[in-house]
Amino acid sequence: MHHEGLLALRIRGWGEGRRQGERDVRRRSAARSRLPCPGRAIPGPSADRGVTGARARGGPQPSRTLRTRQRGVGPGGTVHGSQGAEDGPREPTGTGARSGPDPSPAPAPAPAPDAASGPDALFSLAEVLDASAPDGGSPASDDPAPWPSATEAARLFEIREIYAEPEAALSARGRQVLARFPGARLIEVPSHWNIPHLHGNEGNARRWVRIKREVLVLGVRKTMTVRPNGRSADWIAPGPSNGCALACAYCYVPRRKGYANPITLFTNTEALIARLARHSTELGPKPEPNQCDPHSWVYDIGENGDCSVDALLCDSTAELIRAFCQWPYAKASFATKYVNSALLDLDPRGRTRIRFSIMPEADSRLLDVRTSPVAERIAAAGDFLDAGYEVHFNLSPVVLRPGWQHDWTELLRHLDDVLPARVKQQAAAEVIMLTHNKDLHETNLGWHPRAEELLWQPAGQEPKLSQNGARNVRYRADAKRQALDRLRELTTRHAPWLRIRYAF
Ligand code: SF4
Repeated sequence: MHHEGLLALRIRGWGEGRRQGERDVRRRSAARSRLPCPGRAIPGPSADRGVTGARARGGPQPSRTLRTRQRGVGPGGTVHGSQGAEDGPREPTGTGARSGPDPSPAPAPAPAPDAASGPDALFSLAEVLDASAPDGGSPASDDPAPWPSATEAARLFEIREIYAEPEAALSARGRQVLARFPGARLIEVPSHWNIPHLHGNEGNARRWVRIKREVLVLGVRKTMTVRPNGRSADWIAPGPSNGCALACAYCYVPRRKGYANPITLFTNTEALIARLARHSTELGPKPEPNQCDPHSWVYDIGENGDCSVDALLCDSTAELIRAFCQWPYAKASFATKYVNSALLDLDPRGRTRIRFSIMPEADSRLLDVRTSPVAERIAAAGDFLDAGYEVHFNLSPVVLRPGWQHDWTELLRHLDDVLPARVKQQAAAEVIMLTHNKDLHETNLGWHPRAEELLWQPAGQEPKLSQNGARNVRYRADAKRQALDRLRELTTRHAPWLRIRYAF
């Protein structure tokens, strides 16, 4: 009964909320076309107002009672609907995104429905779309949000399951994302965080890459803490996502997420932007230059994901970039390993710093699964600068192995050879030595053991208590210090224009 009530609410909210969402999108779009970037109003909380309003009003009843069907769910609770994926292509074959290991050789059962949400929470999104469309047609056909990244998104995503908090699924942004994957099954979860049969299912480690391709999570960000940093940025902003469709073996994001790390998109971007607007207004002008930036307070907006990849799925990255255009004392910053050409259309007006993360190609081929090739990231720098971004580089992570100095030398020479002078004039770099984590090491052994041969070197690593209290490992202090000194020397010699902002 509880679930039927929720579902009925969802369906009523869909029709009314969608129409409200369309009105909001049209209004925002008209406002944007009237205003130059610096004068644009902060997008208001219209998206969620639509949902709230639908809830308050109740909205029209659906024309028929929608029964929650468990298509493809066997008697034991095993979802057969995604088994076909096991036989499908391992990775997109298009250019750009790099495919990687997915050593799940035998068909493996998809995760069973979450006990917390129960089988009644599993239903076909297409069915909901069909039942709630005013004219009986598919709302996806009149999705108000254009999706210019659809072709690029198809290289990384083949979404089959979307776990969603009800509030996130009902929001305008959530509905836009859902409408883009009408074949996906929507699974209601009480919280985007720690979904037991996703993050807690040890068997998912073997399907690490596949889950990134086939699963999305939609949630509402509850905490809006802006944390001081002082290294990469002055402040770490509450990000619009957590998790990533790329699969770098050293990524720190999954260290506390268990056995799966697909993208969780937070749908309440407007609340996030409002928080940042207040924060930067209260700070006022930056009193003095520091290594983060000589003039602006720098906010890292992508601490736990890749904003270039998020932009393939929703408008959060675009909304943040537009918002920073109007804040005189603030600058956005995010690191990326994916070249998303759609970002070139956003007109950031120098208020967003994009940091292309690079490492020697030999390391990247093994460790940077699903990313754009390093040479492509470097080649894109000029285009992004011309489009209005500040372009920096992350030399990270630096992985110590035989031959590392030679390969970093080659990379620095390559930067010097191919980057246009205008990129060099404004470029700076962060250098970050590899850190790792025992739990992630063991998870990685399930999907990418070759990477662990390089990353996990107990003889040369020592425990480290990170700022967030996590117990990680890093290279031993003396080796790390020598390596950083050596990399500074190599940079001075082969790319003397590249100012190293900080190294640790
Ligand atoms: S691109 Fe960044 S967030 Fe994504 S997997 Fe790689 S390190 Fe993690």
